[in-house]
Amino acid sequence: MMPGLIGVLAFAAPCVDGDLVTMRVVREAMGTEFEILLCGRDEQSLVNAANEALDEVQDLDQQMSLYNARSELSSINRRSAAERVAVEPKLFSLLELAGEITDASRGAFDITVAPLVKCWGFFRGQGRVPPADTIAAALQSVGMRHVELCRRDRTVHFRRADVRLDLGGVAKGYAVDRAVEVLRGLGITRALVHGGQSSIYALGAPPDQASWTVGIRHPLEASRRIAVVHLRDRALSTSGNYEKFFEADGKLYSHIIDPRTGYPATGMLSASALGPTAAETDALATAFFVMGQAKTRQYCAAHPHIQAVLVAEVESGESLRLVRIGEKLPSREFLKEESSRTERSQ
Ligand code: AMP
Ligand code: MG
Repeated sequence: MMPGLIGVLAFAAPCVDGDLVTMRVVREAMGTEFEILLCGRDEQSLVNAANEALDEVQDLDQQMSLYNARSELSSINRRSAAERVAVEPKLFSLLELAGEITDASRGAFDITVAPLVKCWGFFRGQGRVPPADTIAAALQSVGMRHVELCRRDRTVHFRRADVRLDLGGVAKGYAVDRAVEVLRGLGITRALVHGGQSSIYALGAPPDQASWTVGIRHPLEASRRIAVVHLRDRALSTSGNYEKFFEADGKLYSHIIDPRTGYPATGMLSASALGPTAAETDALATAFFVMGQAKTRQYCAAHPHIQAVLVAEVESGESLRLVRIGEKLPSREFLKEESSRTERSQ
């Protein structure tokens, strides 16, 4: 089978080896497509395992969607200013992880960004530039300091009435991890799981190879890759301004917002993070997109288990430049730059 390039992340062809087969199962969830590629001996048990993992993803979608008024997250948003709301244990751990990444990124990643996402028209909309005072008003309620997470009884409480959480920057990666957990539990040892082609986890490796080969999408052209990464028991996430944006007065506004200024982040075309879990890399890809090169370098120096690949904005006609950041990547995870492919397309 030759899956070829699929959007943000491209899979290399997995090997078919002796009596091992590779199956591919796709399902819509979280407003995108989740896909599982897995190798084993029996086709039917592989498909069953993938379906169980994808059922888990759909359950998580029900739990974390802001587009579903009955989701646990919507209920948390409605009630947490008035009372301490008990949170399902794994979701509580995710909120804690989000809080830790807010601290470590000095506020570049912040799930309380929801009121800003809404005021820039990215929630149920195409995007628009809001008046400055509307942005300033939304900014007042943004910040994890307004959120109290009590570990003892796993409750959440908002210190302001207008605080709202948005897990859009971390949910897909988290769902990928949970799907991988299901696969592991069912005895699967070789699989690739991705959510919306922006977060991927590589479980084990294809039959006769040391690692899975995954491509990072060229930020200006969906069908091209800018780099190839080899992953084994590791995750990769990419945030790009191509995902959701609008243009006004010749300027491009991306859906990733700097929670400290209230304005869409600028300067990056895409930011990728590599690390041990897809929840962490998803959140960090979003954070690195906001932080830019210098701050991402500082982050990776302090967190040696994380690496980054950044592509900064360039003037029209200039070549794109790939910036690789992090402790030396283990040899099985080396990055190959597809240098002939990094020219900016017109
Ligand atoms: P991603 O594609 O993972 O970078 O996530 C982007 C989504 O996360 C946006 O559509 C918003 O819902 C949300 N978001 C935007 N900016 C931030 C931010 N600075 N921190 C956390 N979440 C954000
Ligand atoms: Mg993200």
